[in-house]
Amino acid sequence: MEQRNPRMPVLFVGHGSPMNAIEDNRWSRAFVKLGNDLPPARAVLCVSAHWYGAGTLVTTDEEPRTIHDFGGFPHQLYEVRYAAPGSLELARRVAALTGARDTAERGLDHGCWSVLVHTHPRADVPVVQLGIDAGLAPEEHVALGRALAPLRDEGVLIVGSGNVTHDLRDAFARVRTGDASTPDWALRFDRAVADALARRDVAAIVGLWPGTADGRRAHPTPDHWLPLLYAVGASDAQDTVTFPIEGFDLGSLSMRAVRFG
Ligand code: ZN
Repeated sequence: MEQRNPRMPVLFVGHGSPMNAIEDNRWSRAFVKLGNDLPPARAVLCVSAHWYGAGTLVTTDEEPRTIHDFGGFPHQLYEVRYAAPGSLELARRVAALTGARDTAERGLDHGCWSVLVHTHPRADVPVVQLGIDAGLAPEEHVALGRALAPLRDEGVLIVGSGNVTHDLRDAFARVRTGDASTPDWALRFDRAVADALARRDVAAIVGLWPGTADGRRAHPTPDHWLPLLYAVGASDAQDTVTFPIEGFDLGSLSMRAVRFG
């Protein structure tokens, strides 16, 4: 395999609205910069909030299709094709490291491609997606992330894609009423996450959901929270922790991105 692979950083990205894929806005420009600051990757392994279900699954399709897993958006968004190849080799490696079962039925969802269209716009780096098993406890997701850590020395960029706060009912209510303010629970939870990450206090991070009231408020369901636990698991004490993107969209949706290493 590849000889001189520097240790790759690990990312967590707040993907926010699917429209960030096609809009030129604060977030899409930040995704471009995030990508420009990364070392070249041999492949990308993405853990997206939008593949949350039964079992830890990994994509094996060498030509993964672009999944438009949302409704009610402009037709331009449904025309986006992110044509990166898959990688059976990486999928097999992920399965060996984590026990994931493989599937050729699944493509790339928007949690993955709405970010990668900006960070890796040439779509020339193979992308594999790992599904999230809804039946696992928070610490088990961290353990799966830890199992993925050796990939960092093999030139693989691990990307968790979710949002640090994600209550869409609250966000859409703010849009309807023209209230762009950020509620206290979102500010507090986003800050608590950032503080725990800066200390790399894994136990504190695991304890935030469902163990805190703000966590349960920020995540009525944990799908957008759990990708962060994979990124935390794949990081280690040697990594510097930085926040290349901060701020809120739609009032209460944290767009915080985290880079480990
Ligand atoms: Zn999402």
